[in-house]
Amino acid sequence: MKYEAVIGLEVHAQALTQTKIFCGCSTRFGAPPNSQVCPVCLGLPGVLPVLNRDVVELGIRAGIATHCKIASYSRFARKNYFYPDLPKGYQVSMFELPLTEHGYVEIFSEAEQADKKIGLTRIHMEEDAGKNIHDGDEEGSLVDLNRAGVPLLEIVSEPDISNGEEAVAYLKALRAILIYAGVSDADMEKGNFRCDANVSIRPVGSSKLGTRSEIKNMNSFRFVQKAIAYEILRQEEILEAGGRIVQETRLWDEKKGMTFSMRSKEQAHDYRYFPEPDLVPIQVDEAWIAKVKAELPELPDAKRKRFIETYALPAYDASILTASQALADFFEAVVTAYPKAKIVSNWVMGDFLRELNQENKTVEEAPVKAKQLAALLQLIEDGTISGKIAKVVFEEMVETGKDAALIVREKGLTQVSDEGTLAEMADAVIATNPKEVEAYRGGKKKLMGFFVGQMMRQTGGKAHPGKVNALLKEKLEQSN
Ligand SMILES: [Zn+2]
Repeated sequence: MKYEAVIGLEVHAQALTQTKIFCGCSTRFGAPPNSQVCPVCLGLPGVLPVLNRDVVELGIRAGIATHCKIASYSRFARKNYFYPDLPKGYQVSMFELPLTEHGYVEIFSEAEQADKKIGLTRIHMEEDAGKNIHDGDEEGSLVDLNRAGVPLLEIVSEPDISNGEEAVAYLKALRAILIYAGVSDADMEKGNFRCDANVSIRPVGSSKLGTRSEIKNMNSFRFVQKAIAYEILRQEEILEAGGRIVQETRLWDEKKGMTFSMRSKEQAHDYRYFPEPDLVPIQVDEAWIAKVKAELPELPDAKRKRFIETYALPAYDASILTASQALADFFEAVVTAYPKAKIVSNWVMGDFLRELNQENKTVEEAPVKAKQLAALLQLIEDGTISGKIAKVVFEEMVETGKDAALIVREKGLTQVSDEGTLAEMADAVIATNPKEVEAYRGGKKKLMGFFVGQMMRQTGGKAHPGKVNALLKEKLEQSN
């Protein structure tokens, strides 16, 4: 039997605020354990939470950026459960009245070779829990509550995703939107953007959903893709063997390359949600929404489309160049100084990104600035250096941060394009290779490459290729 997978993702993104959601404690990452806590986020008796307005505004931003409808009236709810990293015995989240609903994120589906909209069920605000530390030397476990009360946006997708590749495309698109919109830094290594995947399969053509398993807490695109692929196969094998899928929570084990069961959901939690009595409901009026909308920068999708239209770039180039705001800005800065977009795109996607990846640097840390790259491209355009030499110059620029013109001068890399000099050299090459000349004139036109190669060798690759070709052609075609 043929199966299809039905996948929905829940993303937790940390909202980019200075302080926690219900108290004034700092959200700074990496502080010593329990140094950023107060009676509110420690859950001591008798304290009252005060909502951080910035979190609401970032939630509205996230909602607008993903085409959601912002609720004019929403409220927090208590999600009750016991866990050592949750001192209050409940998490303040949202339940029946979330902040935003019914949006979408657009991706390109490789499997369908088409654009695809992944629906968003909702985005709601909630507080993060602390962190249990099970450290080797200590007897028992420790708990760090610096994270307790850090603001999160939970972004829940519709089960519109069909495979691991689409899941990754969705996560990348969503992450780019959140970063562009200034909602979250979405730093995956710090756990500021993590994902749970609900995976089920069903026979192709069936409209009934299969039993799903939930893979928890993944913070790498690669893990998400592998875990989903593994999970689909695992479920197929069970069904093929006549078995039954158990609803459960599973974890991805990267070392073993498999998911394993964490707990069964058959004895599902009853979180006994009820409206949070210590916080007033949230009212968002049209003016607030309009203000946030007006402040939003151009988002990745719009930027990608503009790059295709304004710069006549292929869709592929546009999607790579707009993957981050910084890279898009860099590209546009180069084009401003050197307005040949496709040439710039080739260099940015090729040599520039390759160097960054090799050095593990961000665009902001790049040793070659936009103006410097533009100046290098201008040297090729002027005929001062060849495209081949330019690659060498670029590497030197990366190493030293020097300007292209200076490197060309210092290393004597200027292209030989003086007609007289080149003509003399061409004559010499023709005179010293009579056999090849005869063969060429007899019809072996492919030998042109040989002659060009000779001249390039003599000039250390610095001869102007266009002029060399033209000169050699002229001289070889002359009957003697
Ligand atoms: Zn606090």
